[in-house]
Amino acid sequence: MLDSAAELLRLQENGDLTAVEITEKSLSAIESSEKSINAFTHVAAEKAIETARRVDAKRAAGEPLGPLAGIPVAVKDVLCTSDMPTTCSSRMLKDFLPPYDATVVEKLRVADAVIIGKTNMDEFAMGASTETSAFGVTRNPWDTDRTPGGSSGGAAACVAAGNVPLSLGSDTGGSIRQPAAFCGITGLKPTYGRVSRYGLVAFASSLDQVGPMAWSVPDVALLLQAIAGFEPRDSTSLNQYVPNYSEILQTTDLRGLKIGILSESSETEALDPAIRKAVQDAGEVFRSCGAELVEVNLPHSEYWVPTYYVIAPCEASSNLSRYDGAHYGHRTESIDTGSEHGPLVSAYCRSRDEGFGAEVKRRIMVGTYALSEGYADKYYNQALKVRRLIKGDFDNAFTQCDLLLGPVTPSPAFRIGEKVDDPIQMYLCDLFTVGANLAGLPAISLPGGSDSKGLPIGIQLQAPVLEESRLLFAAGAFQTATDHHKQRPQPLTETK
Ligand code: GLN
Repeated sequence: MLDSAAELLRLQENGDLTAVEITEKSLSAIESSEKSINAFTHVAAEKAIETARRVDAKRAAGEPLGPLAGIPVAVKDVLCTSDMPTTCSSRMLKDFLPPYDATVVEKLRVADAVIIGKTNMDEFAMGASTETSAFGVTRNPWDTDRTPGGSSGGAAACVAAGNVPLSLGSDTGGSIRQPAAFCGITGLKPTYGRVSRYGLVAFASSLDQVGPMAWSVPDVALLLQAIAGFEPRDSTSLNQYVPNYSEILQTTDLRGLKIGILSESSETEALDPAIRKAVQDAGEVFRSCGAELVEVNLPHSEYWVPTYYVIAPCEASSNLSRYDGAHYGHRTESIDTGSEHGPLVSAYCRSRDEGFGAEVKRRIMVGTYALSEGYADKYYNQALKVRRLIKGDFDNAFTQCDLLLGPVTPSPAFRIGEKVDDPIQMYLCDLFTVGANLAGLPAISLPGGSDSKGLPIGIQLQAPVLEESRLLFAAGAFQTATDHHKQRPQPLTETK
């Protein structure tokens, strides 16, 4: 019942449900699944009901309503909210109450959405499993022994658990698409600059993008429409026309569309055979809708992960320097006044030591090293050059096709604990997703079937910059032709 925002809008318009009733259902769904999955860092029950009441009153008075009126939306806890804490799932920001709303949050309010709460994530969005959260792991509703992916694991899990129809995630290297794939839902990373980053706590500023997550393409389109657009307070925001994303979804006729199959990714040994098969099957679905399949290659794709894992930590080390316990964030209570570096430096060090978790510290150290004098040319500047080559590969591929089809992840959802002590294995989860971030492209993860254990598998489409419409067009046709996005996990019953 909380599966489809479009359906909930219709039910309200017909007078069959009120925003308050919908919000109550969402809150009680959260209450019954939270013990099993821990998807939320904060549930704003009272405020949500208050918002829903206002929406119902507006409707009763015949006032105009926003496009998400009465729809519960969960927001990843990396986005600033003026009336709820914003923790980034870190001890560092445990008590942070932002004095302002992120642009996307402001836009949700203008759209009359009901912000239900904030979702759990890997600390500062660094991770692929939501295991690095300071507030406990989030579990995958399909199998609670497994991770929901990350870093937007809470955002994906709460949709998959039937808590809310829509959620906002952020994607620096795959954090919307990979959890969407692990949880059997749809997630879109927009073009860099399409959606404002104002009020998104920075991880790696040249890669970060906010994006929508939902079961189906029409719902993803609805949420993207509400959050896309120019924001003068974000210097990287694109001042470009935003098309009507829902209009494009009316057809399943893909004749004239060329879809490029990535030869490297289908040959990668690391790829689970069930995922390879799901990508092949998806190709056949697109062909049956009239699309033409062509083989393309991205010769530098083997450098995606190494390039990303230089650039992202470099930017993170710089962005996270603001958390020193004085300007921002957790401040230690045990300043060493006798420290050889003096009390101020001791306060910085201890605050950062206590506030950050191990993965965040690892990235800060890698980034600081790669940016330091004598090494910046060898690592950071070199990575920037390779990034250009990677972007060039995509430009070239898009002269041969309109969209690229490939996997989202090398494997379906892995077990909690399986990779958390092996950072390299965790980083390799991003094998197929970081390319779109390095090149600034839009990309979507779609449910594409399941493996022999019944775990969801995602397939990925990537498009040239600002071609979200094309992505949604093909993705919508795929979902009209398939039922993968209609599969649901068993209801969550017991607590693990
Ligand atoms: N898994 C990637 C990382 O750990 C991506 C994270 C993200 O997109 N926020 O950096």
